[in-house]
Amino acid sequence: MAFHLRDVTLLTSDSPAQTSTDIRIDDAGTITEIGRALPRHDTDGVVDAKGALCLPGFVNTHNHSPLMIVRGMVEDKGFAPAYIPGVPQGHWLSEDDTLALARLGVMEMLCAGATTIVDYYRCPEALAQAADEFGLRAMIGGRVMDMDTAALAEGRFERDTTLGVETLRAALDVIEKWDGHDRISTILAPHAPDSCSRDIFTEMRNIAAKTGKQVHTHLSQSQWEVDQLIAREGMTPTEFLDDLGLLSPDLIAAHCIFMSDSDISRFGQANAVVAHAPIGNASFGAAAPIKSLKEAGARITLCTDTKSADMFEAMRMSLATARWRAGMSFDFNAREVFGWATTAGAEALKGHAATGMLRVGDPADLILLDPLAPNLHPVLDGFGIVAHSGSAANVTDVMVQGEWLIRDRRPTRVNMEDVITEAHTTAQKLWARAAS
Ligand SMILES: [Zn+2]
Repeated sequence: MAFHLRDVTLLTSDSPAQTSTDIRIDDAGTITEIGRALPRHDTDGVVDAKGALCLPGFVNTHNHSPLMIVRGMVEDKGFAPAYIPGVPQGHWLSEDDTLALARLGVMEMLCAGATTIVDYYRCPEALAQAADEFGLRAMIGGRVMDMDTAALAEGRFERDTTLGVETLRAALDVIEKWDGHDRISTILAPHAPDSCSRDIFTEMRNIAAKTGKQVHTHLSQSQWEVDQLIAREGMTPTEFLDDLGLLSPDLIAAHCIFMSDSDISRFGQANAVVAHAPIGNASFGAAAPIKSLKEAGARITLCTDTKSADMFEAMRMSLATARWRAGMSFDFNAREVFGWATTAGAEALKGHAATGMLRVGDPADLILLDPLAPNLHPVLDGFGIVAHSGSAANVTDVMVQGEWLIRDRRPTRVNMEDVITEAHTTAQKLWARAAS
């Protein structure tokens, strides 16, 4: 139905916050008018926002929603704890387990104001289903890898061709099933240079060339990965992707931490996209060279990488970690990171309608923040208060394409209590197995 959203404080793109603004949204979910005291149409549903800050929905560019299984349990155990004995292993998750955990992950991202997400892991069909149930825009990928992870954890490269065949088949199945869907699209997602052989990366590159799909991978997440690639291929992970012809504007690479000056320059010259995960990186003591990457020509987007899902925190942490890494550099500000969390993400991801902006003609992908939250006042230019003081807990309502998916902090399509109960039961079961 058409909506007349009354009295918002609109914050979008590069204009300062506009107070006492009305937004009109048509039946198709497109913004048709923005202005003060717009005339009301009889058929419109009217929502009085009471001056609430209204932002474009966030674009959260890198996540693995089933990793909810380890949240709160492994963060203090060092790097890549997923392969440690005593922790549930990803390959134990059935389709049903994956779906139960993905629902929790997707629900958290949506409640936190993300209207477009990238989600990839094994059992991608479950990820697509979870996103479809909640109704947000999602780019889904099946995680493809063909290295034995247990051997990798011990520093040995042992090819597991069966795993490669299985994960590639699941990735292609999800593309075939979901492409053309209204709000779900797909990506190619080789896991990382150290967990995928040259052969499987080459196969992914050929599929990308044939289908026009974007490639999304982890890159230079650890010094260990860099050392392994030099030992295996005689080149850094970035050089390896370059050698394969994968450095391009269609490459989305998560982390990009341990890169040489030459890696940074190659990546930047290709205008490739960084899915910057400042919270996850900092949690294991690292910070990506974002200032150098940006200056070299890389495009920066933000993600929470299945940590808190709080994109406000990601904005804040991206500023803090960039300043720390570059030595008290104030090259970036709140307005810029707001762009990373919205427009830059929307521009980087192909195959969906999101723009990360709220202008006439844009799809109504928007969020409302609690107008009485003390941490959101005073609102002056708007960007500063949102990036430096905002919180996912301030998000009260979320709309995608004119449809309310969250109202008063509750999902409209799915029962919140059921999702939490189901995920909790699944986690208990898998942790009990890990302990036995
Ligand atoms: Zn990741």
